Amino acid sequence: MSYVDEVFQMVVEKNPAQPEFHQAVKEVLESLRVVIEANEDAYRKDALLERLVTPERQLLFRVPWVDDKGQVQVNNAFRVQFNSAIGPYKGGLRLHPSVNLGIIKFLGFEQIFKNSLTGLPIGGGKGGSDFDPKGKSDREVMAFCQSFMTELNKYIGADTDVPAGDIGTGAREIGYMYGQYKRIKGVYEGVLTGKGLSYGGSLARTEATGYGLLYLTEEMLKCNGHDLKGKTVVISGSGNVAIYATQKAQQLGAKVVTVSDSTGWVYDPEGIDVALLKEVKEVKRARLTEYAAARPSAQYHEGRGVWSIKCDVALPCATQNELLLDDAKALVANGCIAVAEGANMPTTIEATEYLQANGVLFAPGKAANAGGVATSALEMSQNSERLSWTFEEVDSKLKGIMVNIFHSMDEAAKKYNMEGNYVAGANIAGFLKVADAMTAQGIV
Ligand code: NDP
Repeated sequence: MSYVDEVFQMVVEKNPAQPEFHQAVKEVLESLRVVIEANEDAYRKDALLERLVTPERQLLFRVPWVDDKGQVQVNNAFRVQFNSAIGPYKGGLRLHPSVNLGIIKFLGFEQIFKNSLTGLPIGGGKGGSDFDPKGKSDREVMAFCQSFMTELNKYIGADTDVPAGDIGTGAREIGYMYGQYKRIKGVYEGVLTGKGLSYGGSLARTEATGYGLLYLTEEMLKCNGHDLKGKTVVISGSGNVAIYATQKAQQLGAKVVTVSDSTGWVYDPEGIDVALLKEVKEVKRARLTEYAAARPSAQYHEGRGVWSIKCDVALPCATQNELLLDDAKALVANGCIAVAEGANMPTTIEATEYLQANGVLFAPGKAANAGGVATSALEMSQNSERLSWTFEEVDSKLKGIMVNIFHSMDEAAKKYNMEGNYVAGANIAGFLKVADAMTAQGIV
């Protein structure tokens, strides 16, 4: 059996009931096969792949907190410190009822390669809890965040592990967590990113993932003879990534006609009104039915359906496994030319393969949504030098990073005779730097 197959089998056996983690490892290892086979003896002797797929440390803890009725609630929480070969662990904290160890491990594993691709010195990690901030009062969210940080503070620090936001963890949650960290540790350091501007946050961090997605998509289209201007775009999600992806797409001359949330979706043929979307989602924290009620051109539909709308470009920006094989077939049938992942692993492996086989340009999340973590690393740099850069300065660095990421994955794909296969290119480019650092640092 080949080394890749052996290691994948080991992952499945040693990590039962973690399908998302298996899926992420399979996707990465399959596309690394050619690189691994070329160095198989050395990698096998050093157990490089076994070390790569095994987190350096996994923390599981309980988070007790008191709700507004005086009832004690208990949540499960996780921090997976996956790989620190090229820098301190870096990756977000997800707060969502679906969170479990397997989901955090898939996200942490992906994060290793994504962080490597940015060219910045950051290792891979991820964390979160099955706590659901939806429907909770501010006091309840604060109680949870303080209890969560009371345990997490022991394992993180500006030079060891720097968590950030993710689904369910926005500016409010980061603020409460940062306050509690500072209170316990008594140090004012850049231990979290995504902080508010008044206490060490970076301009353009809020916009970074969505903007970065569009900078990479624009470069990918340009290098393949297309122009984003005038294109029709469908987007899923209506959270942080989706909102700023919509805004940047429109600034670059495209028309975004859909957004969605966990209960339904909106088709707005006139183009999504970003100001209204922000009011509904960022200010009122309401459902998309409110968007549709306030906008005569918008149609609201229950359930899923974004991918059935005719488009040139599709940007999944909600969650994992939200673009399935049938969705990919509908996109191809409707003439879609490019898919770029704003969310982490939103496209299933079968859907990805179908899109690629049918000539659709496909940018995987670890490259396309790396703008968020890249700007988090820029926030760390600003915290270290105790300075704040202007919006334009951060935004122009972000754009440079995203353009570089596109060319790194494009060149890696070409070098290994897989021109246009950006999934393979991103995995190979991200992997080689980490593997090199792991080899240089010996058996640790
Ligand atoms: P938000 O919590 O701000 O928004 C998530 C959006 O997706 C919401 O519209 C939410 O709907 C919808 N959603 C969440 N879960 C589901 C589900 N199970 N089914 C359908 N819709 C769902 O998160 P972000 O925008 O920050 O993150 C979105 C994706 O992007 C995630 O995969 C995240 O890991 C990834 N990502 C985020 C980065 C960032 O900087 N924020 C960086 C890199 C990747 P509702 O409004 O109903 O909750």
